[in-house]
Parts: sequence; structure tokens; C-alpha cells
Amino acid sequence: MTDDTPADPICPLCDRPIPPGVPQSLHHLVPKLRGGKGGPTVLLHQICGLM
Ligand SMILES: [Zn+2]
Repeated sequence: MTDDTPADPICPLCDRPIPPGVPQSLHHLVPKLRGGKGGPTVLLHQICGLM
């Protein structure tokens, strides 16, 4: 690839890019109570994570 601009991560809830500078939230795929600590996480818009 010749474009060295890193692609914005995609929010899996709304399928839109998450540009740097907007409020974002790291969401654990597995609840911590079920051993998800340190497990995979997804990046969401903060407003999406609150729904
Ligand atoms: Zn979103």
C-alpha cells in the first residue's frame, strides 16, 4: 500500500470509522467475571458503548 495514513478503526456496532479525537470506548468481548480479563477487546464509539 502506498497510503501510509493508518485507517481508522471501524466501530462494529454502527459500521462507521472511529476517527481519532472522538470519544471512544474499549469494550471487552468477554465479561471479566467469566475470565475475560486481558481477553479480546473491540473499539466502539463511546456513544455506541453506552447503548
Ligand atoms: Zn459506533
